[in-house]
Amino acid sequence: MMNVLRNIGVRARLLLLIAAAMLPLIGLIVTGLVISYRDAEHEAHRNVANEARLGAAKMARVFDDAQEFLATLRHMPQVLQAEQPTCNTLLAGLKAERAQLLSIGVIAPDRTILCHSRGVTGSLFHDEDLFEQTINSRGNRFVVGDFLVSPITGRPTIAVAMRLPPTPGRASGGIIFASLNLSMIERDVQLLSEEAGHSWTIVQPRATRVILGWPHAVEFGTVAPDFELFPVIRAGRTGRTTAVKSLAGQPTIYGFEPIPNASTGDLWLAVGVPPAEVFATVQNRLRWTLFASAGALILALGGTALIAYWMQLRPIALLSRSAQRIGAGNFDVRTGMGHWQAPEFRRLGQLVDRAALTLAQAKAAEEAVAAGQRRFQLVADNTVDMISCVDAEGQRTLVTGASRRILGYEPAELMGLSPVDLAVEEDRPIVRSLLDTFRTGGEASGVRYRVRRKDGTVIWVELSGRPIDEIGGCVVSMRDVDQRQRTEAALAEANRQLELLAATDELTRLANRRTFNRRLEEAFAETSGSADFSLLLLDVDHFKAFNDRYGHPAGDRCLAMVSDTLAACVRKDDEIGARYGGEELALILPGIGPAEALLRAETIRRAVAALAIPHADANGGTLTVSIGVASRSELSVTKAGPTEIIQKADEALYAAKAAGRNQVRARAA
Ligand code: GH3
Ligand code: MG
Ligand code: MG
Repeated sequence: MMNVLRNIGVRARLLLLIAAAMLPLIGLIVTGLVISYRDAEHEAHRNVANEARLGAAKMARVFDDAQEFLATLRHMPQVLQAEQPTCNTLLAGLKAERAQLLSIGVIAPDRTILCHSRGVTGSLFHDEDLFEQTINSRGNRFVVGDFLVSPITGRPTIAVAMRLPPTPGRASGGIIFASLNLSMIERDVQLLSEEAGHSWTIVQPRATRVILGWPHAVEFGTVAPDFELFPVIRAGRTGRTTAVKSLAGQPTIYGFEPIPNASTGDLWLAVGVPPAEVFATVQNRLRWTLFASAGALILALGGTALIAYWMQLRPIALLSRSAQRIGAGNFDVRTGMGHWQAPEFRRLGQLVDRAALTLAQAKAAEEAVAAGQRRFQLVADNTVDMISCVDAEGQRTLVTGASRRILGYEPAELMGLSPVDLAVEEDRPIVRSLLDTFRTGGEASGVRYRVRRKDGTVIWVELSGRPIDEIGGCVVSMRDVDQRQRTEAALAEANRQLELLAATDELTRLANRRTFNRRLEEAFAETSGSADFSLLLLDVDHFKAFNDRYGHPAGDRCLAMVSDTLAACVRKDDEIGARYGGEELALILPGIGPAEALLRAETIRRAVAALAIPHADANGGTLTVSIGVASRSELSVTKAGPTEIIQKADEALYAAKAAGRNQVRARAA
């Protein structure tokens, strides 16, 4: 049932609805027709019953006349005496005047015909039953006999009779009879039948005989044991109507009534009418009703289908078309619901249109977001730096395409990994502390460490990042600075070299004068709180002569050897040996007091002497140096400065020279 219902469309459902609505109407019409049928049938039954009653009363006249006639006749002396030929003549005369009679006769008590309208006397009266009934009856009873064909006239008839009163000549008077002319009765029946328009039949149920009828169906007196009317009459039904088959086999409604005064003959009048005739009007009405109903139904269905199309199906089609287009992604669609449509449909249409509009806006917004995302993806994938989102657990949740170039990994391969994982073992603490910084809300930029790429190579990267509250983690940007790191390292080395070169004297590989000045100033400032600060100034003795004798290159080599000796005497990092100028060297001694400084100077002098560089123009034949020593403690408080201590050392050196060279002097005096 549900399956059938499921396959029924809206149109069919509407038609069903109309059919259901019209069903009671059709029921009413059918009921009306059925009632009309019943009424017509009742009417027909009533009509035939009435007609049969009236007809029977009319037919009774035939027998009444006959009775009256016989009643008059039975007292006539000619009849009572039955003398011939008087009696025969009388009867013949009377019969001649009465076409409704076939013959008249007087029967003796021994059933011999005494006189007869046809003059046939002496023979036995053939209708024994009638004779017996009549002779045995009392008084002047009028007796009607059975149908028979008269052997005298040779014609079909029914005889009627009355007992003759007893006469002096005869103890029992016999009977007088008359045989009825059925053709005359039939003529009456014909007139009455044609007048009424129905069939009239006179029947004798006890003999199952149809005496006569109109229209002619059978011969006079036909025995018809199958005629269905007989059992109905015999059953003595009240109402006196029935619907049975006629003698010709046609269904017929019969009204039947006993003919008064012919009861001894069991004669009944049956008036029949075929149902077709009864129902003709009703059927005609039925035809018109059906025709009109069918027309109304078709009109109603057609009209409703049309209205249903415009008012139900079309809006549904519009809505479903809109819904389909929206479903297919076309949000520009508008339902186009007519302003005359039902408010429910208009509201639905508005809802669908609004939904389409909302979806269109959402789609536009979505496209904008998608475009933004594509742009972002494009930027992210083409950014030189690798951008990552790192969650609170330190795992990457987003990685841009630069990972391929920087680390050799696909972004997906790095998802879920921590930045710590790729860092080389030694640099992992840097990354951990960076992540801690982000976790505590701090930012960082340009933090360098080394990572191991997928191919195993190690490169320098620079990480910058900041915490992002929205993602509960941080966003970090990793930059490949390997090349820069190496370049910078090389540059730093070059700079260091350059600086070294700039600060160093090429020949002696000691600090040059500029470096000396700077370092002396720095050391002097750094140790300002301490009295222990000394400066040695060293000058090669008779070096001009050396140059002159051994040549300038030999002088250079000699100067380098003296410088190396001085450098070898440097004990602490903050002690600086320098070339002060020409063949004059210096040694800054922070934290060293005057006594210690003298010892150090002496050590150097000896070490140079121990070199035993031959110098023919020197006193001892070997190259010597003179050293002047100055300490901060010797300086006056007001003039304490680098210039002053140099001055003091120079004075001490001058004193050493003056004292004969190859010696150490602490003060000028
Ligand atoms: P004194 O003992 O008094 O110091 O005598 P001296 O000859 O050394 O006198 P002075 O210190 O005035 O002489 C400096 C000489 O040192 C002059 C120069 O020939 C020599 N000299 C200075 N610088 C260099 C150098 O770089 N190379 C060489 N070979 N000789 C130098
Ligand atoms: Mg000199
Ligand atoms: Mg000298």
